[in-house]
Amino acid sequence: MEFLKQLGIKEKNFGCSTGQNWLETTTEGELKIYSPTNGKYIGSVYQCSEADYEKVLDTAIEAFKYWRMVPAPNRGEVVRQIGLKLREYKRPLGTLVSYEMGKSLQEGMGEVQEMIDICDFAVGQSRQLYGHMMVSERPMHRMYDQYHPLGVVATISAFNFPVAVWSWNAMLAAICGDTNLWKPSSKVPLSAIATQNIIAEVVKENNLPEGLFTLVIGRGATIGEKILNDKRIPLISVTGSTRVGRHAGEVVQRRFGRTILELGGNNAIIMTPEADLKMAMPAVVFGAVGTAGQRCTSTRRLIVHDSIYAKVKESLLKAYGGLKIGDPLDENNHVGPLIDKNAVGDFTKALERLKVEGGTVIYGGEVLSGEGYESGCYVRPAIAEADNKYEIVQEETFAPILYLLKYSGNVSNAIAIQNGVEQGLSSSIFTNNMREVEEYLSAVGSDCGIANVNIGTSGAEIGGAFGGEKETGGGRESGSESWKLYMRLQTNTINWGTQLPLAQGIKFDI
Ligand code: NAD
Repeated sequence: MEFLKQLGIKEKNFGCSTGQNWLETTTEGELKIYSPTNGKYIGSVYQCSEADYEKVLDTAIEAFKYWRMVPAPNRGEVVRQIGLKLREYKRPLGTLVSYEMGKSLQEGMGEVQEMIDICDFAVGQSRQLYGHMMVSERPMHRMYDQYHPLGVVATISAFNFPVAVWSWNAMLAAICGDTNLWKPSSKVPLSAIATQNIIAEVVKENNLPEGLFTLVIGRGATIGEKILNDKRIPLISVTGSTRVGRHAGEVVQRRFGRTILELGGNNAIIMTPEADLKMAMPAVVFGAVGTAGQRCTSTRRLIVHDSIYAKVKESLLKAYGGLKIGDPLDENNHVGPLIDKNAVGDFTKALERLKVEGGTVIYGGEVLSGEGYESGCYVRPAIAEADNKYEIVQEETFAPILYLLKYSGNVSNAIAIQNGVEQGLSSSIFTNNMREVEEYLSAVGSDCGIANVNIGTSGAEIGGAFGGEKETGGGRESGSESWKLYMRLQTNTINWGTQLPLAQGIKFDI
């Protein structure tokens, strides 16, 4: 396939890079990657050994000693060039993301566009690493705070965003003066290798040292654990399930490391009697079935006022009836495959559990077979009538299941249902009632990191800080002030006088 060639992906690939060089270990097992779109074999990756990990980390630590002293705007210049290079490779890399992960070509290209956008954002940020100037209570004293680079930043990423989430972390870390270690999901390692090849070109063209951007592909239980426990890594950004993130948080906190935890969501849309249904329906359907329900921000619960419930249900059934399911590289299709057969198993098990708890599947739920569905990863998205209290509704099933929930009375009741889960990532309300909007966005409103009005739960822009509360982990990455997490804050007090007055007026004469 031409796009694989363009990206330097071979039949057999190494999984461990110090930046310019691939370490050639072949003893740690070979990941064989098949496309969920058609079940065809794409290529393999040799996993990295613990000794390789040590070599890579040493290189990243050495590179940090150099990189932290490069002026931030010059670091930004390198990131600007990475953005240009990504523009050149947008089509092949977007195609690989789509082919390896199974998301639509539009979304694969969109993911690369997010990488480009965060590069542009980071370039601007590289000239704005501002601290504060504080007024000292002591005469002839000056106080200010400044941000210093942290060290090696590790990004552990999830399968559903094979490349974009890494770039949200790595591009900011790079302008902040940190070096990067990336452990991608072993389900989508080829997209990471392709990205590594692209970045390596820029590093080489600028004669920069190895170790600025490094990659280790290996098992969570071995390489992942080494990263979590490694005191030489001050910050670890983990995107993944709440189960993995909870463990990572505990391990890293024990050694007083820092984490950014971007974990599972259980996102809801509220539809009040004053919702504009023409706008709301496409937002709900895209949110629930886009990326086959495998976005952390996918719409999983629809909370509808009882006065419009029947109408909403009817138009949902109609919209789902028109969905085209098939190869995500064909732009006519709306829904692609799940990542693998295990995910298909989770989907069907969730629907069985729902029925046991008293829920009703009113649409879809089948596993598709036959022509075009040979990979065994395609399902018909499901709609189910349910209760927020069901255990299965309280969980995140990473698949296209939309739970229909009913509320009555005022919007406070809908907000209580929305907030009545352990996760707190994304949320939205559809209404044209200003009072409902303001209540929803107020301190008594949505408890999520993302709260939208008259748009759906998925599809964030890089300019905003991205992340969620409660069991979503509390992390923030990408835009707004997230850059501060990649630096250490230092407060400086300078006495330019000839006396030594103490703070709080304390006297100490000797
Ligand atoms: P996962 O938790 O199975 O894996 C995530 C990453 O953690 C992978 O790279 C995996 O190899 C690694 N890992 C596993 N065990 C580890 C260990 N012991 N030590 C270190 N690393 C380890 O998640 P997934 O199935 O790849 O992704 C889906 C999940 O990610 C969903 O829950 C989704 O909501 C979440 N997600 C969250 C966000 C967000 O920003 N909040 C974004 C994307 C995905």
